[in-house]
Amino acid sequence: MILRDVTLIDGDEKWRGAIQYDPETGSITDVGDPSRDAEDEPVVSLPGRTVMPGLVDAHVHFSLSGEASVEDVVGMSDAELALVEARNARRTLEAGVTGVRAMGARDVDPELKRAVERGDVPGPRMVANCRSVTVTGGHGHHLGREIDGPWDARRAVREQLKRGADFVKFMTTGGVTTPGTEPDAVAVTDEELEAIVDEAHRRGVHAATHAHGAEGAKAAARAGVDTVEHGTFLDDEAIDLLLERDVTLVPTLSAPYHIVRNLDAATEESARKTRSVYERHIESFRAAVEAGVRVAGGTDAGTPFNAHGANAAEVAFMAEYGMTPLSAIRAMTETAAAAVGLEGSGTLEPGTHADLLVIDGDPAEDLTRLNDPAAVIKGGEVVAGALPDRE
Ligand SMILES: [Zn+2]
Repeated sequence: MILRDVTLIDGDEKWRGAIQYDPETGSITDVGDPSRDAEDEPVVSLPGRTVMPGLVDAHVHFSLSGEASVEDVVGMSDAELALVEARNARRTLEAGVTGVRAMGARDVDPELKRAVERGDVPGPRMVANCRSVTVTGGHGHHLGREIDGPWDARRAVREQLKRGADFVKFMTTGGVTTPGTEPDAVAVTDEELEAIVDEAHRRGVHAATHAHGAEGAKAAARAGVDTVEHGTFLDDEAIDLLLERDVTLVPTLSAPYHIVRNLDAATEESARKTRSVYERHIESFRAAVEAGVRVAGGTDAGTPFNAHGANAAEVAFMAEYGMTPLSAIRAMTETAAAAVGLEGSGTLEPGTHADLLVIDGDPAEDLTRLNDPAAVIKGGEVVAGALPDRE
């Protein structure tokens, strides 16, 4: 299959050309201006359109569906949770997100990942974990694994990997959505942090941490964490540490945006916490971008009012608050795929998955065009929208 006469966006480059992929193997075979004889191959011309890699969202919660209170989900059985997650995965894929890192709930996410890989349910390619590791009573404890002390922390990590987790997520600070925890307080001890990160790396998986406050981000960076989620109150020292330790920031600008716009419906506690963090979050992101911190796009989709399928808005937020449009696109394709370990995703390189978006017009000129792709292709198969008729 050849898509030609099209604008191609890959990394932070944009050019006119063509792309060829093999629907049988699901891989990209040539990029640029395929000159191979196309006699026995379908060709589609897409003048006025752009082809780019499918989005990769580095931070989603399929277990949550934008409820005002995360606690609504706690009472669900695993069966209910699995059905909800399958629906959210489908919505995400149809919106143009062909890869995600799913922050898990109980043991459902690795099962969902296997179901998607078998083709039983539609969804993006997934890197998934099980329970997040948190201190007793800490952020996310309802669906997480509570720990006390470094040996318990190691055991918690081992349990997650035994159950099929691809990475380890842990909570360094309190959170907006968990009552009784404060976003800028450091919840874990250095000994616990070191145990969690060391155990993850020993087993060859990456470690991601939820961290709002600067002290939490610093402690996690010192312990060797791979990605910092949110990074809401980063100061200069925290930014220097992220740079020095080669840590990727996943800013999740969508999360506070949606709560701030729904303060009337939010719980009183999450409204109070979000009001105080939103402006600071944007400043923190701007400063990190200016300093050159590596940023991967992630939405925190599923958190209050943050719907699955609205993921592309994160690209526009990153561009609004300091990145160029092409660097924001790169953050939510190539950089996100590399940060979460989704190999073969996020670029147009030959040999990688033919996970492609066909966009009307040029998204680099208008990022809102990403919200409604004309076609979503995963592994060489059109999974949403449609391509024009072949020539
Ligand atoms: Zn999250």
